[in-house]
Amino acid sequence: MSIKTNLSELRSQLPNQVNLVAVSKTKPVADLMEAYASGQRIFGENKIQEMVDKHQQMPKDVQWHMIGNVQRNKVKYMASFVDLIHGVDSEKLLNEINKQAEKHQRTINCLLQLKIAQEDTKFGISAEAADTLLNSDHLKNLKHIAIVGLMGMASFTEETAQIKKEFNTLKTTFDRLKTTHPKLEILSMGMSGDFPLAIDCGSTMIRVGSRIFGARNYAI
Ligand SMILES: *Cc1c(COP(=O)(O)O)cnc(C)c1O
Repeated sequence: MSIKTNLSELRSQLPNQVNLVAVSKTKPVADLMEAYASGQRIFGENKIQEMVDKHQQMPKDVQWHMIGNVQRNKVKYMASFVDLIHGVDSEKLLNEINKQAEKHQRTINCLLQLKIAQEDTKFGISAEAADTLLNSDHLKNLKHIAIVGLMGMASFTEETAQIKKEFNTLKTTFDRLKTTHPKLEILSMGMSGDFPLAIDCGSTMIRVGSRIFGARNYAI
């Protein structure tokens, strides 16, 4: 199957309100260009250096999303161009993003990552911590940050009921926080293995990699 075919199959399953982030981590620029030629403009990477390299090589109308765990000392490398940072999980990180965005006189859009999975390996904050952060005076002073939504990753399991429960929890939190924070518009949840379920549960943005580009080979 070609990237082009994979993309058009995937797009045919997506409701209008759902945006697709093509997760291109570990894949060569030639593969990204194939997706670009098929009309894909949003790409997601999980390593800042890799995203910077690809940003330099790809057309300038690509929107770059950082979907991985962000190292604070590397924010400066992406601050001039990153479109959305999905994995924000601390005030310290927000401070650094704000500082670097200010240097480029821009506002960087961020999603708060909530921990919904049972696994310890998944990052993220609790719904309560997100609520506290959104209401903090401190956040009001970060003029170069816009928190525009939430992101979450479900447990890596075959148990559909468990995944559904986690997505529903995130959606409920999203709806609740949205009543007091109307700027929250994006709910980023769903990957290759679980995106149909995520969409059923109210996702507005899915992050799909292997389903578009094929399995990743981390050995190289
Ligand atoms: C790798 C990754 C994805 C995409 O995973 P696939 O299973 O290949 O679709 C989505 N979200 C995050 C945060 C990732 O790191």
